[in-house]
Amino acid sequence: MNKAVGSQWNATEMEEAARRHLLSPSEAMEKLGQSARPLLSRGDGIYVIDAKGRRLIDGPAGMWCTQIGYNRREIADAIAEQALQLAYNSPWYTVNSPSAELAARIAAMTPGDLNRVFFTTGGSTAVDSALRFVEFYNNVLGRPEKKHIIVRREGYHGSTALTAACSGRAGNWPNFDIISDRISFISSPNIRLAGDKDEAAFLDFLVDEFRQEIARVGADKVAVFLAEPLLASGGVIIPPKGYHARFKAVCEEHDIVYISDEVVTGFGRCGEWFASEKVFGVVPDIITFAKGVTSGYVPLGGFAISERLLDKVSGDNARGSNYSNGYTYSGHPVSCAAALANIAVIEKDGILEHVRDISGYFAERLHSLADLPLVANVRASGLVGCVECLVDTSSPNVTDFDKRIGARIDIHCAELGLIVRPLGNMCVMSPALIITREQIDDMIGILRQGIERAAAEIMAGELV
Ligand code: PMP
Repeated sequence: MNKAVGSQWNATEMEEAARRHLLSPSEAMEKLGQSARPLLSRGDGIYVIDAKGRRLIDGPAGMWCTQIGYNRREIADAIAEQALQLAYNSPWYTVNSPSAELAARIAAMTPGDLNRVFFTTGGSTAVDSALRFVEFYNNVLGRPEKKHIIVRREGYHGSTALTAACSGRAGNWPNFDIISDRISFISSPNIRLAGDKDEAAFLDFLVDEFRQEIARVGADKVAVFLAEPLLASGGVIIPPKGYHARFKAVCEEHDIVYISDEVVTGFGRCGEWFASEKVFGVVPDIITFAKGVTSGYVPLGGFAISERLLDKVSGDNARGSNYSNGYTYSGHPVSCAAALANIAVIEKDGILEHVRDISGYFAERLHSLADLPLVANVRASGLVGCVECLVDTSSPNVTDFDKRIGARIDIHCAELGLIVRPLGNMCVMSPALIITREQIDDMIGILRQGIERAAAEIMAGELV
């Protein structure tokens, strides 16, 4: 194989190179180098095209990120233009125009007084940096014991050492060491776990549990409550109505910083720039973002923080402190230029309005799958939804067998022209935000067939 001319390799050679030399973020190690992932060669709107020229609907929009769809000239031009203009600058000693403009744009989109923005390289580094900022904040305030972080089971916040430790999806980190001495988990707000409680009683139970956990740890030790508005990777779990406002009120009582992780929900996924206030009724102290900020064209993440918090540790209150934490690529000019172009497309094409307009139809079509065998629960918010599959649809428990159903549905859907990329027994749909009604029909039609085929195999005892 000629290593010097990678771009001229054919698809088979590319697949071979990937098998031999790539370590992906998810590997069954006993099969390392044996199985091939689909090689994608192009993207176009809501579709990806594989190396054989097959066109597939990208159900998860990459990883919940390609908001405006693939192949937008405006973004490519903005990236090329900025790369020529100023490809890089040190964020430690200088500033570039796109990051300054983007910070101002994001400050205007976020609720309350979240008017200052720190840029990172993606979602994990956004959440990690936000948590580290709170660490800095409490140290400057002279209360180094206030470090404890409370998170939810089934939440996901990233894969740095700290954010992985904050992620409560069982089985996420086998054989990794996890920081555990200052992180604790409370229940997922998953209504399926409510037993015989109705939504209001379930919410009371969750708030009570949060209070008890604060009391157990000691309010003087709890620094942060970190929560996604809806638990995306946990399976699009939508909390009971009023959940976030109740939790925020408890945080205020105990001087706990409320971080809303909007890495998935930000930039239009729920029909608003940010979902915290307008969709879920809470004004957090910090909002983290990534993914949709550039529609996935280039990496970027960050957090927006409340002025009230900053005022306590800056100016006359700085106590001689120096905030020193960041990345070579914080506020990278090319990424920020891509984000500005992405925001311009979202505005010009009325994409937020489109999501608000079409999300009811998306939910209705997704719910139409509830009559199928295996389908235990369907949920949706904005343009993100989940079809949860179980062999015993009446059971709240997910068996090891159930966890393999998604992969089977995925195989059938891929044959039929839809990428699913399931989460165990859950098929999450979060298509590009530009999806039309007809394309939703196509997507749900294929998913229906995929589930039917998997169900038939299970009934015939073929899936063991
Ligand atoms: N927070 C949430 C809510 C996420 O869903 C993810 C990624 N799926 C992350 C953080 C981490 O983002 P990244 O993979 O860009 O580091």
